[in-house]
Amino acid sequence: MGNMVKKVTGVNTPIYPSSTFMVSGARKPTEYFTQGIPDGEFLYQRFGHPNYKDLCVRLACMECGEDALLFASGMAATFALFFATLSIGDHIVVSSRIYGGTRGQIAMLAHKLRLKVSIVDIADLDAVSRACTKKTKVFFAESVSNPEVTVADVASIDRICHSKGKNILLVIDNTFTPLIVRPLTFGADVVMHSLTKYVNGRSDAMGGALVGKRSFIDTLRHPALGEAPLIGGVLDPKVAQEMAERFYQIEDRVEKASERAFQLAQILKRAGFSVHYPMLSLDRCPAGVLCGTGKEQGGGVLSVAFPTEVDGVRFVEAMAAEMFDDPLLGPWSLAYPAVSLGSAHTYVWCTTEARVQGEMKKWPPLPFASVPNGFVRIAVGYAGDQALFLLRFKKVLKGLGIPGSSLIDPMVQS
Ligand code: PLP
Repeated sequence: MGNMVKKVTGVNTPIYPSSTFMVSGARKPTEYFTQGIPDGEFLYQRFGHPNYKDLCVRLACMECGEDALLFASGMAATFALFFATLSIGDHIVVSSRIYGGTRGQIAMLAHKLRLKVSIVDIADLDAVSRACTKKTKVFFAESVSNPEVTVADVASIDRICHSKGKNILLVIDNTFTPLIVRPLTFGADVVMHSLTKYVNGRSDAMGGALVGKRSFIDTLRHPALGEAPLIGGVLDPKVAQEMAERFYQIEDRVEKASERAFQLAQILKRAGFSVHYPMLSLDRCPAGVLCGTGKEQGGGVLSVAFPTEVDGVRFVEAMAAEMFDDPLLGPWSLAYPAVSLGSAHTYVWCTTEARVQGEMKKWPPLPFASVPNGFVRIAVGYAGDQALFLLRFKKVLKGLGIPGSSLIDPMVQS
């Protein structure tokens, strides 16, 4: 025992796998439950833990916010947010193009809380303005939408939400564009993330976050009264530690994925495909320029509207079947037929979730924008040899015989 290391000076933050923490006096728990837990102190894992704190600081910095809350998934984060800010009968305005799971969650909450929901095309600012009233409580949109990859003009939406007499909580899901888009700097009140995607960066863990003003976060975090601990679903210390350590590479990961996605989008566009990507459809305003960072990046996700569902399925299958030897990684598949995004590998799939949510009748469906049948989402990975990847991508397109693909020459570098 005498040889025990007294002071550990590792360069990385250790994991604190404690569900409970020793307090400095018998009266402390009561003090914490009544007055809140001071910064840097801990009581019980569900109220926060050292690894939670570490990741919150980094997320708040990245998003130019004051503080953050962490959850076991992105869906848990949006649920806590809606549940904390809405009461029975409230009015909310929601973008017509958002992630299928969030569509389902809003439809469920709308039914259970008898919410009045206006679904709007956020590209139509007149429609947004008409939908937002003095009684509206929350506006929800994605900075870059899933799966259509359309960009929200957060600054203009902010002007509408916070114009005279209106005090609408503007919430932006920034899952697709961390570091590219900074919604808080353009007037959003809360930024939400599915940490499962770019922040984690490896498709091996799930998480969710809300970032915003300290007063707002403190209200949701209060150990006795805060909706976050009352709902539960806190992010696990091991996952939080891993995500905090991976933060050092997020900039590179996002940049590489964006670069590749832009190249794929350009190849597809030149061949005449109907491609959705911020740097293309909004040549004049890439996502970052429109939403706060000035970055000339559009993120790692693009979508292609194939003429038919059959074409879309053939494309997904051909991408998945294309194997090659990557000089660094060895045997490598051009893409996995998988959902999710933000990882080393490229994922490709025929988007169905948003469509299915619209067809299910468990709760009265809301009029979200429909996703066409041949719609394919490509979530470009950040790893592997880029030139080889592009060459193989062109080869697959050329081999498909879909209108447009015949124009692609696999040997010509773009
Ligand atoms: N928001 C967006 C834009 C997403 O793409 C997803 C998941 O795909 C979510 C929220 C939900 O996050 P999670 O899967 O971590 O619950």
